[in-house]
Amino acid sequence: MLTHVTQLRRVVTVGGGPAGLLAAILMKENDPATEVEVLERNPADAGYGFGLVFSAVTLANLRADVPWLHDDLTRLGRHWSDIELRLHGENLRLGGNSFTAVSRSRLVGSLRQHAETTGVRLTDQREVTDPEDIDADLVLGADGVSSRIRDHFAGRFFPEIRVATAKYAWFGGYADFDALTFLFERTEHGWFAVHGYPYDEEGTCTFLVETDPATWERARPTGYGPDETPAPGASDEVARRFCSEVFAGSLLQPGLLANNSVWRNFVTLRTKTWHHDRYVLLGDAAHTAHFSVGSGTKMALEDAIALATALRATNDLPAALREYEARRKPKVERLQAAAEPSMAWWENFRRYVDLPMPQLGMHFLSRSGRVTHQRASEEDPEFVRGLDRWFSGGEGVDAVLGTPFDGPSWRLTSRVVALSAGSPVQRGVRSIVLRDGRMVVDPQDTAGELPGVLLDGLRDGQDVEQGVADAVAAAERGAQLVMLRADPATAEAGTLARSQISERLRLEHGLPTVTLEDPPDFDLAAQLVLSGRTDLVAVPAEAIGEHPGISAAETRTIEHSPR
Ligand SMILES: Cc1cc2nc3c(=O)[nH]c(=O)nc-3n(C[C@H](O)[C@H](O)[C@H](O)COP(=O)(O)OP(=O)(O)OC[C@H]3O[C@@H](n4cnc5c(N)ncnc54)[C@H](O)[C@@H]3O)c2cc1C
Repeated sequence: MLTHVTQLRRVVTVGGGPAGLLAAILMKENDPATEVEVLERNPADAGYGFGLVFSAVTLANLRADVPWLHDDLTRLGRHWSDIELRLHGENLRLGGNSFTAVSRSRLVGSLRQHAETTGVRLTDQREVTDPEDIDADLVLGADGVSSRIRDHFAGRFFPEIRVATAKYAWFGGYADFDALTFLFERTEHGWFAVHGYPYDEEGTCTFLVETDPATWERARPTGYGPDETPAPGASDEVARRFCSEVFAGSLLQPGLLANNSVWRNFVTLRTKTWHHDRYVLLGDAAHTAHFSVGSGTKMALEDAIALATALRATNDLPAALREYEARRKPKVERLQAAAEPSMAWWENFRRYVDLPMPQLGMHFLSRSGRVTHQRASEEDPEFVRGLDRWFSGGEGVDAVLGTPFDGPSWRLTSRVVALSAGSPVQRGVRSIVLRDGRMVVDPQDTAGELPGVLLDGLRDGQDVEQGVADAVAAAERGAQLVMLRADPATAEAGTLARSQISERLRLEHGLPTVTLEDPPDFDLAAQLVLSGRTDLVAVPAEAIGEHPGISAAETRTIEHSPR
């Protein structure tokens, strides 16, 4: 019975990518009486991109919502579980995940077939220029990141973009990958990295090459000068040849495969609202998240499912569109928040390539800020045990945090230091001293030992360069360590700036850093120390006593003796 379905005479989907096709199929299934048409600007067989990755969780959700799509992905895709980092001639294998990769064109082909079987009309080579000309009760803007529908009503949807500094180009190739593989290759110009994985039985792999802008400028892998604008086809070929040479040692067959493989900067898109009048956005037209979290297509498919579900639950179109946005937006925003530090990792990876391999592994795994020592241990206990032993000689959080630390002229006997109570967050640079084994934040107090600075109330997106400059200036005046605290008012947001400043001070300036965690999370603290993001962690003094596992560290921490 279709008693509640929103009654629609005609629905038009602009864009025949994953979002548009799945939404069209589900609309038609909602009410076979609705006329559903997909307008796609390209010919049927003109796909872009190579393989896409889906996590096991994504597939399980799809199985519940659209079983045939889950079965198609499982049938068409390739499955593997490990992550592998290849750098300086070493391989590090990280387990505990489960992925399915599928060719983007096979996924689109399968969706098109289902669309036709369901009675959706597919009109190819029809580019929509004016959305107001479309004859429909409901227009789905599923026309990708450069959406015409969204831009036409920009004053209603309020799009906002952030352009990544890193350059990437999406290729295919035949390589000896049997996992989600990351290759790092140093050239005379700087570092290039690959995100690669096999996605079909023929052994074709996604081969996505990424580099920082300075390396890219030096290499000019377009073959064009700074003031020349290359035509897409020609620049494709130069990019393909350049990357094929850089990674020749990893290819089983010479030469990468190109398909619209131009150098780009990833664009993260957010839109304030997703619907206006009879227009609704979904997929990349509404939002994007950096490809390193492998979630763009997943979000596009989940949008389509949520929209169809909302339209099935009521016969009130505006209410259904509101419900769709209310259900999806918070989930998408959470994913975008996790993608932000992952994108930053790839913008900065040249800084991490000289970390010892096990540490690089933890740094990479925890790049989105959510992986603690415990969570990493659940995913790959053997890797974490080995890392703990490499770092501390023992195993577990207490062993890691109980590892001594040598400063320029002093030694602390563990990685946890106690911070005196009563240090409210106050944006700016403040003095800290160590007195009776406790960090004291007080600009007036100059009588303690081990003077340092506190960069307080850090916020993402604005404080990194300034924070590094302030800390380096303080070190020139004699500061021996730098403590960093995020602005709690910005929730997770300040922690990225905190980590980025901390690791730059450690890796580029050799300055010891202390990350202030309040409320304390010793599991996270162990990750921050193990991954090389910080040397020490400060927690409020009273928290040390409350934590039975860490209390032993307190007595050792408090010791402070000149070496
Ligand atoms: C390098 C890279 C790697 C990625 N890897 C992954 C991954 O591993 N896993 C994953 O889940 N996602 C990945 N993604 C993201 C994924 O490709 C997109 O999120 C996904 O394709 C979004 O689907 P969509 O249907 O919203 O948009 P699209 O796939 O972009 O489809 C939009 C369609 O609209 C058509 N169109 C555009 N304008 C018009 C117009 N005016 N008129 C008519 N038609 C129009 C286009 O031709 C296109 O067919 C990756 C993205 C990039 C850039």
